[in-house]
Amino acid sequence: MRDLREAIRERIDLVELVSDYVRLERAGRNFKGLCPFHTEKTPSFHVSPALNRFHCFGCGASGDAFAFLMRIEGLSFREAMRRLAERAGLELHEETLPQEAPNTLERLRRLMYAANFFYRQCLRRAPHAQHYLAQRGLTPETIQAFELGYAPDGWNHLLRFLQRHNFTLEDAEQAGLLKARDDGSGYYDRFRNRITFPIHDASGRVVAFGARTLSDEEPKYLNSPETPLFEKRTTLYGWHLARGAILRQKATLIVEGYLDLIMLHQHGFTHSVATLGTALTEDHATRLKRLVERVYLMFDSDTAGVRAALRAGEVLAQAGIPALVVRLPEGDDPDSLLRAQGAAALQRALEHAVPLAQFGIEQIVREQAGGRNPLELEPALKAQIVERGLDWAQGLPSELDQLACLERLAPLTPAYLTSPQAALQTLQRELQRRLRSRRRAPAPIVPLPAETPALPEPSGVPKAVLQAEREVLRATLHPESAARVFDQLPEIEWQVPLHAQLATALLALPKPPYHYEDPAELLRYLADEPLQAILSALMMQETPPMSPAWAEGCLQRLHEYALRRKRAQLAAQIDSQNAEKLQEYWRVRVESIERTEGSRWSSG
Ligand SMILES: [Zn+2]
Repeated sequence: MRDLREAIRERIDLVELVSDYVRLERAGRNFKGLCPFHTEKTPSFHVSPALNRFHCFGCGASGDAFAFLMRIEGLSFREAMRRLAERAGLELHEETLPQEAPNTLERLRRLMYAANFFYRQCLRRAPHAQHYLAQRGLTPETIQAFELGYAPDGWNHLLRFLQRHNFTLEDAEQAGLLKARDDGSGYYDRFRNRITFPIHDASGRVVAFGARTLSDEEPKYLNSPETPLFEKRTTLYGWHLARGAILRQKATLIVEGYLDLIMLHQHGFTHSVATLGTALTEDHATRLKRLVERVYLMFDSDTAGVRAALRAGEVLAQAGIPALVVRLPEGDDPDSLLRAQGAAALQRALEHAVPLAQFGIEQIVREQAGGRNPLELEPALKAQIVERGLDWAQGLPSELDQLACLERLAPLTPAYLTSPQAALQTLQRELQRRLRSRRRAPAPIVPLPAETPALPEPSGVPKAVLQAEREVLRATLHPESAARVFDQLPEIEWQVPLHAQLATALLALPKPPYHYEDPAELLRYLADEPLQAILSALMMQETPPMSPAWAEGCLQRLHEYALRRKRAQLAAQIDSQNAEKLQEYWRVRVESIERTEGSRWSSG
């Protein structure tokens, strides 16, 4: 197994693999990007081509291609091996793979796969459902690509199909396919007489369904409930089909509905994704941030759509992603525009997309002015626009965007008539005042990284000491500092057991660590994953620059800490002894001395 793992690892370009999920940029010998395993705004996720490993200096996530894929896709080792072998062009025999009993997730995935198969079969036998899709302008290729299906009218069609194929009904309920009867007498099909839209995870596996009614039944759209496979707040509809195009274009187009999304893909806008009946969340933004440079929002032109666009834009802005809002002609949605006027009309709308800041301020002006020229409004109304506009500008993270908003508001202030410049300055001062008072408000609680660091650190040891230990170990990798520290390794009283293990391993190498030209070779001498993780992190670390003086300083710090501990230990020992006993001890000592001395005198 180990050989196979090794063989696969050697053939996989880790930078390329990671780039499917994270936008990486070159940084010296390594590549850097935003960590996919915790939320961050500046990149601390490193990939080293030389080591064929990744390491996050933020959350401590670390490992090789297997570790990366298992974690990001939630795969078992066996699944990761299958996927990577395929990617590496290696043939795998099933029996060489480690055997695993299907766990709950795996059982639910199989259920979703079976249900999707069933619904697609049913669509072939349901002319009225086919007719509906054709009428909506969907081509057979699109129906195929999005795996659309039909849930027949009735209470137990899917239920019987699943029973015939030996699935348990309890699992099917957990997967959101069946619902339990209120009286506890059994289950029934959740989706009935509806077009089914399977929702996939990033690997293209079905995790949920959206379903649109073919009758007048409300609600028009029904979604799977949240299940162990499906979380609305992290899932985007169409993601598995769009990811390639998103990577190529470094941009994505977000819409709200299933059919809008499908029509966009059908017309060649294959970098589009849709939210699933929820607002865009921070989790969505985090996922997008790794891949895109900007996001286009294309929501309905009605009030609800505008509000949704503004909310989504704010979430994106907070994540540091520039958002542009695509304005559609009054009364149109992407689907109707595409069907009436084709791809060119939509392309034009995309080209005229406006930055979020501008969209927001225009929206405020439009709402307050109600179709009149804002410059001709009564002073009180103008003041309201300025007030709301300042509120809006205050929430924008970019100063340039803030300034653009103020420039739009300035003509609405009374001072503008005498001096436009003074009017703008007054607004700027007002905005600064508001921002300052907001800053004084209690700081929001910064969420801790979702992951606990991979390398637990002992509590009670000062951070500076932990860092000094790491830096001394790092110094052994650099020729200019290694000579100074290498001989000292056995003397150090390590506070972190893992550091002690690493020091021992480094001392046992056939040649000193800085003599290895191929860092991967060095890594192979370490048996344990935790040791490999920490050493590869040290190899990828580039700041502070290593120098003999820096290494010496770190050694010194460890030395002082060791002395301090020794003194403290002695003091503690003395304190802990019972004072009475101590007196007793001395009394006994003195008496015995007197006695021996006395006897010596008397006998002498
Ligand atoms: Zn991280």
